[in-house]
This record gives sequence, C-alpha cells and structure tokens, in this order.
Amino acid sequence: MEMTKEEFKKELQQRLKEKYAMDINDASSQELYNVLGSVVKAYYSDAWSNTWKDYLEDGQKQAYYFSIEFLPGKMLKSNLLNMGILETVEAGLADLGVSLDELAQVEQDMALGNGGLGRLASCFMDSIASCGLPGNGNGIRYDYGLFKQRFVDGYQVELPDEWLRNGNTWEVRKESKAVDVLFGGNVYLAEDTDGQLRPVYEGARRLRAVPYDTAVLGYQNHLVNTLRLWSVEIPESEEDHYRSIEDRRAFEDLTAVLYPDDSNERGRQTRLWQEYFFVSAGVQSIIRYYLRLNKPLDVLNEYVAIHINDTHPALCIPEMMRILMDEHGMSWEKAFNVTVKVMSYTNHTIMAEALEKWPVALMKENLPRMYQIIEELDRRFVNELTICYPENPELIQRTRIIQNEQVHMAHLAIICSHSTNGVAKLHSDLLKEVVLHDFYQLFPERFNNKTNGIAQRRWLQLANPKLSKVLDQTIGTTWRKTPGDLKLLQNYVEDQTVLDQLAEAKKSNKQRLASYIEETTGITVSPEAIFDVQIKRLHAYKRQLLNLLHILKLYFDLKDDPKKVQESRLFIFGAKAAPSYTYAKSIIKAINEVANLINNDPDINGRIKVVFLENYNVHLAELIIPAADVSEQISLASKEASGTSNMKLMLNGAITLATLDGANVEIRDAVGDDNVVIFGMTEREVYQYYERQDYVAKDYYDQSPVLQRILNAFVDGTIPNIYFEGREIFDSLLKHNDEYFVLRDFDAYVKAQEKIDGLYRDQHHWQQMSLMNIANAGRFSADDTMMRYAEEIWHIEPVEQYSKKKG
Ligand SMILES: *Cc1c(COP(=O)(O)O)cnc(C)c1O
Repeated sequence: MEMTKEEFKKELQQRLKEKYAMDINDASSQELYNVLGSVVKAYYSDAWSNTWKDYLEDGQKQAYYFSIEFLPGKMLKSNLLNMGILETVEAGLADLGVSLDELAQVEQDMALGNGGLGRLASCFMDSIASCGLPGNGNGIRYDYGLFKQRFVDGYQVELPDEWLRNGNTWEVRKESKAVDVLFGGNVYLAEDTDGQLRPVYEGARRLRAVPYDTAVLGYQNHLVNTLRLWSVEIPESEEDHYRSIEDRRAFEDLTAVLYPDDSNERGRQTRLWQEYFFVSAGVQSIIRYYLRLNKPLDVLNEYVAIHINDTHPALCIPEMMRILMDEHGMSWEKAFNVTVKVMSYTNHTIMAEALEKWPVALMKENLPRMYQIIEELDRRFVNELTICYPENPELIQRTRIIQNEQVHMAHLAIICSHSTNGVAKLHSDLLKEVVLHDFYQLFPERFNNKTNGIAQRRWLQLANPKLSKVLDQTIGTTWRKTPGDLKLLQNYVEDQTVLDQLAEAKKSNKQRLASYIEETTGITVSPEAIFDVQIKRLHAYKRQLLNLLHILKLYFDLKDDPKKVQESRLFIFGAKAAPSYTYAKSIIKAINEVANLINNDPDINGRIKVVFLENYNVHLAELIIPAADVSEQISLASKEASGTSNMKLMLNGAITLATLDGANVEIRDAVGDDNVVIFGMTEREVYQYYERQDYVAKDYYDQSPVLQRILNAFVDGTIPNIYFEGREIFDSLLKHNDEYFVLRDFDAYVKAQEKIDGLYRDQHHWQQMSLMNIANAGRFSADDTMMRYAEEIWHIEPVEQYSKKKG
C-alpha cells in the first residue's frame, strides 16, 4: 500500500469536491474527517477483499473471537499507522493547513465495551491481524456505547453515548449477509418424513441480524481481517406479530445499549437476548461460509476455531449443536465431538459473585431450544460422571451445568470446550487450585494460562510519539514490529544522554496532560510533581479507597508539619462506576470532595493535588498513560485476574506500585524487585484470612491514631459534603469488616509510598528504573499472546503471504 504525499493530497481534494463540492478551506473538521476516512477506506479495500479471497481459496483455518464487548477507541490514526502512511498523511494535511490531530478529535471513541475485557478484545484484534493470523471478531453493534460520565457537584452523572450520531466511517453494512434468529415460543421434537427427529417451533419471534463489518488492518503486512458486529432489525414479514408498540420496542432495542456493568448483569432478559442474538448470528454466518468450502461438517474443527471470551458467548456451544443436529442432521455424539474441538474459553474472574448464571425459567421461556440442548448436555455429563465417580455424588452436584434452577455458564463452557485458560500466571493457578479445582481434576489437560497483553502500536507508537522517537534514535526501529526488541534499551541504562532524552519525553507528555487538566478542570498543576495515576473501573476490589486514605494521610501530615520533606504529588484518577453501583459512586464523590478540599487549601500550597478526570475512556488513557510516573495497581491480592493498564503504564516508563496480584507478579519478574515497588498481603495470606475467618478490621482502627483521624474525617465533617457517602464508606470499613482488607494493607501501602517518594528524589536512579520498565515491557506484547493462542489453542498459523517478517 504505497502512496506519496502528493498523491494523497490530490486524492483528498478530489473526494472533497465530489462529496461536498468544496475546497479545503471551506470544509468543517467533520467534513474533512469524513472525506479522509473515505480516502483511507478506499486505500485498504483491495487488501480487504484479497485477504478474504485468499482465506477462501486456501481453505485457511480461521479463528473467530466472540466477545460481547469490543473497545477499540478511535481508529483513524491506528489505521494510518498500520497502513504505513501515518507520516505521509500528517505531512500532506499540514501542507494543506490542516492538523491531523485536530481531525482525529472529531472521531467518536468506539466504546462498545466497559473496560479491560473489551479493550483486551480490541488489542487482540489488532495483534491477530498484525501477526498475519486468520482471525476475526464477532460481537454486537450497540447503538449507544458506554455512557459518558460527567461530574455534577462531585457526583457521577451518566449521559448517553450517541457515537453513531455523525455516522461511522469505518463500518460497512452487509445486508446480503443477514441471518434470522429465533426467540421464545414453544419447541417440540417431531418425526420428519425421513424418520429423523426435528424440532418444531410454535409462536417464536423471528428477528433479523444484520452484520456491520469493520476492517482490522495488520501492521504493515497488507492483511485485513474483519470485526463483524450485529445489529437487530424486525423483518417486514414479522411486523404483524407484535401485540403492542411496547412489545415491538423491546425487540427493536435488543442491540440498543451496552450494559454498563463490567462484572455481571444478573437476570436481565434483554441481556440474555443479546447474548443469544450475536452468538446465533455469528455461528450461523460461520457455518454458511464453511459450507462454501465444500467440506463435510464433521471436520469443521479443522477449519474453524471459536473462542468464547468470558462466558457471555457460551451459548455458542448449544447453538453449534443445534445447527449441526437440527439443520444438518448430525447425530448428538458427532455434533458434540466436533463442538468440543471447535470451542475454547477464557475465564476472566475468580470472584464467585461475578460468575454468570441464568435462571432456568428465563432460559426456557426465551430460548426453549437452547434450554433443551443444555438440559441434555447436563444429563449426559451427570450420567458419565456417575459411571466414573459413583462414590462421589458431591463432585457431580458441584460441577453439573444446571444447579438450583440455574444454568452455570462457566460450567457449560468448560465441559463443552477443549481449552480453558486464565489470563495471568497467578490467575490460572488459582483457577486450577481453588475456583475451578473440580474441573481441573476432571479435565487437567484442558487448563492453561495465557497472560494478557497489549498492542504496543496503540499504547506506545500512537499514544507516545515522543518516547517512540527517542527509542528509534537509540535502538533503531525494529521494536515497532518486534516489541521484544525493546530489550535493547537495557544497554543504555548507564547512558546519561539517553536517560535525559527519556526524561525530556516524559516531561513533555506531562506538560501536555497538564494543559488538558487546566483546560478541562481549571486546576493548575505542575509538571514537576510526581504524576501518580490510578485509572481503571471503579470497584471496591481495585481499592481506589486505599489510595484515597493515603492521600488523606499526606494531607494531615502536611497540615501538622508544613516543613515536612516530601516531593510534590499530583494524584490522577480516571474511573467510571456502574450506574447501579452505589458504593463505587460514593467513592467517586468522596475523591472529588477530598480533591476540592486539598486543592483549595492554602496551607498545602499545591504540594499535593488531586484530579479526577471525567469520562475515562481509551482516548483519555492515551493522554494520561504517557505522562504517568507512578502506576497504581493496588487491588486486593487474588482479585484482579490480570490487569492490562499495568502493562500500558510500564511500557510508558511509569514505576509500578503494586500488590502481588494478576499480571503485577509477572511485571515484577520481568523488571526485577529493584524496579518495582511491591507491598501488601499475598494471595496466600488473603486465603488464610478466609479460612480462619479471623480478620477484624476494627482492630486496625482501634490501634492506629493515624487511621482514626483519616476514617473519622469521613464522618465528622472534615471532608465536606459527604454526609451519606462518608458514613457509607466508614461503615463499610468498620461495621461491615472491610471486605477488601484496605485497613490491613494500609501501613504497608504508606511505607511503599514513602519508598516511591525517596526513589523519585534520586532522579538519576528513577530514570534508570523507568528505562528498565520500558525495556522489559516487550514481553507483554499482545502479538506474543496471540501467537500462543494460535499455536496452543486455535491451531492456526500465520498466512505465508502476510507473515510478519515479509512486511
Ligand atoms: C486498559 C484499559 C482498561 C483496563 O484497565 P485495568 O487497570 O487493567 O482494569 C480499562 N479501560 C480502558 C479505557 C483501558 O484503556
């Protein structure tokens, strides 16, 4: 895909004339953005159809990544980068008096995900294509993405995210690929003329699923995969079947909104519909494509791998069984055998309350055929176990799919797939030893670990051009294609010139963020301060509260002793809370009030500042992460499956301040104990408390005047305007015994923060640590993660003509 600057300029102006009959100078940013988008799309369209043709001709085995969330963020610059024309376009636009960065602002973030899960899926899409792997995404095209967060008097307010208002340049509606999906009604089996049992549907709703395809470009390798997102429509022939407007609306709204909860949305009918809708449409379209290859369905697994990202798409399993048996007359045994070989599953949580379950009654009523198949899967599983473990009925009760009138989606996914993986070493070990121990005993060979990763292209090349330039000048440009080559930077750990350049890049990123903060919040911050960053969803287990308690400690220390020696600190928060998660919203309010208190206290004189940036999303992450000095990864050990912002921040030279949780453990292994600050309980100690049931949070309060002063501040008016929220937080710690051991880890956290303070004072040493973090971040490349999924789970290979080396 070559294009000179002059060609680009000509093309852009030509299209602008065609579309709007306008010159550059008269066009609005939106118009220019639209036209630029169409230039870019035209530019990759041949490669897109060629990739598709190549896969079909070669009968290439393909992987399909099913995820109910994708969180790609903005795509313009990422597409330009991957096509290899980012600089050409930037320069061409500059010639015409247009700033690419300003145009890029026009694009709405594609926020069809809540946080880590959806962002991971998007990093994986980028990496699959960049590794030359044949793999596609399958999900839902929500009309409204994750809500926009605003603060009003320090409270979170949610506004709808109308991301499609100005259209979406990148998607292509594929009317001809639409499929029908059935809901509700009755289903019974009746003998067909050929003697086969076939399901007969009575009174089911027929909905149309229309796919919108988005190109997923590989990094400078001419490969273009597809992210297919489904949107619901009511077929004309069905319009009389709706009893009322409300009735109809319910179905029309099926793909309207993303559920704004990042753990679990329980018992909501529409959510169940959403899950079946995109799964059924996706599996149907895969089978339709497969049939064009003229291969028998019983070797489907040699051509198709389906990945179930968390349990939301687990209905892939009964849906595949349904299609193979009901539509293609395959026997149960054969269908099950193929299905298990096609399916694989990633578990993302160990928190029991977040494991997905659906009431039997709801499933039966809405998805009767799915329920029949699940019931039979369960019956056969129980039969088999009864034969193998007649002496262990408890084991059967614990592991079966249907228990207590609920369908356990994780059980379904594990029993009916060939691979179950966790997302970090510690997490995978905990799955085997504790959470899924029974299943591990039954199917040890199915369990494996695949530590998460991130796309360095977005999180370093795009987000941090300053650092990227220093790297190019120091270690050459191979790291751009092979992130492992970042390791070469380690050779410069004693090179003052390089350290200075890295520090310069960091400073300039901090200035950029400082300007943004000033513009959006009116708060003036100094780029000299330590930028201490905690950005992630707001959750009790992630312990933003621990961070806040420490901020209050620093505040009181400075009030008591204005001469206290201490580096200036800027605490930066970014976090959305699920709209129904009252406790998380109270913490947001408390942080905002503490911020007000401290930022406006003349005694503090700016030595501590606290900024909570509104509407944390991918775009904001790209602005904050390059500017971070300290990466707060302080979840209670055992609770964070992996984390990925920890990887993004490390890659950008922040020092990780962390508990030994999720991938933090591997970050420590990668950089060594000297280049990370670890504190707090280990997962083992946490489990010991659970076993002995002997944690008494109040003891920590009773024995510590420091904690007393801090916690009392929540209820005695010291922190203003949090009458109810302060009490709620205070009670959660003392009355309800501090579920996430915030008080237990507080002292250790304070010491770790003091260590950070001391380390930062020695700037030379700090810069060395920072360099070591950048140099060792290559091991968290999602490219490597995807290669491991490809080899060990999906059994697919890079396609020769797109393979990475050739470029
Ligand atoms: C990376 C990312 C996350 C995940 O953050 P964790 O700290 O790993 O939970 C969430 N939201 C956005 C916008 C991200 O970019």
